[in-house]
Amino acid sequence: MSQAPSYKRILLKLSGEALMGDDNYGINRSTIEQIVGQIKEVVELGVQVGIVIGGGNIFRGVSSAASGMDRATADYMGMMATVMNALALKDAMGKVGLIARVQSALTMQQIAEPYVRGKAMQYLEEGKVVIFGAGTGNPFFTTDTAAALRGMEMNVDIMLKATKVDGVYTDDPKKNPDAVRYQTLTFDEAIGRNLKVMDATAFALCRDQHLNIKVFSIFKQGALKRVVLGEDEGTLVHC
Ligand code: UDP
Repeated sequence: MSQAPSYKRILLKLSGEALMGDDNYGINRSTIEQIVGQIKEVVELGVQVGIVIGGGNIFRGVSSAASGMDRATADYMGMMATVMNALALKDAMGKVGLIARVQSALTMQQIAEPYVRGKAMQYLEEGKVVIFGAGTGNPFFTTDTAAALRGMEMNVDIMLKATKVDGVYTDDPKKNPDAVRYQTLTFDEAIGRNLKVMDATAFALCRDQHLNIKVFSIFKQGALKRVVLGEDEGTLVHC
């Protein structure tokens, strides 16, 4: 029996590091294929998918050169790195028959469409995956904040933050075997317990606009689909 998804439209936040796999930097082919495979599973359930991708995997390679650089210039480089990841993701999606569009917050018209809210909404309604590149387009921000903003603008039902760990734990599960995963947490509990779900700006935006966040591991096979089907996977941070 096929199950109905719990969400009609999602915003998936992937950090650049998610694409690295076990490599030290860059994009690992089998890792990106694994991630795209999971995205395909939920698109096939009829879920509309927007993605904000980070740039840490690419920018790390130049970060030593960037140290001592003007912060805004380094941040623009970081945003360009996210566009590279967005293009790689789109390419990998095309190979498995998913139709994706890249919209960039910085104008790069030869390689990506500019971000236009109405157009992005239309693509989502058509079942196309929309990958939002270049973060917010502003230095001094992060792609977590971009994910919160785009998620709100796209009226998504939930923000899914993909991490290496399968949720938020009472302690670092790698160091403490007794650490327990929270199934759910309120925004206030996360703040009170000093649990870093995402950066403070992004977190405050989600809390204020009542955009719930699910933290889960993209490296766990089938986890994205289980999240979308409302199964016990990851940690839900809610109002
Ligand atoms: N960045 C920025 N403004 C944004 C989003 C990103 O200036 O709105 C820059 C910033 O330098 C950041 C880099 O792009 O370090 C990559 O983004 P992020 O660190 O969020 O990527 P992730 O760690 O998720 O891979």
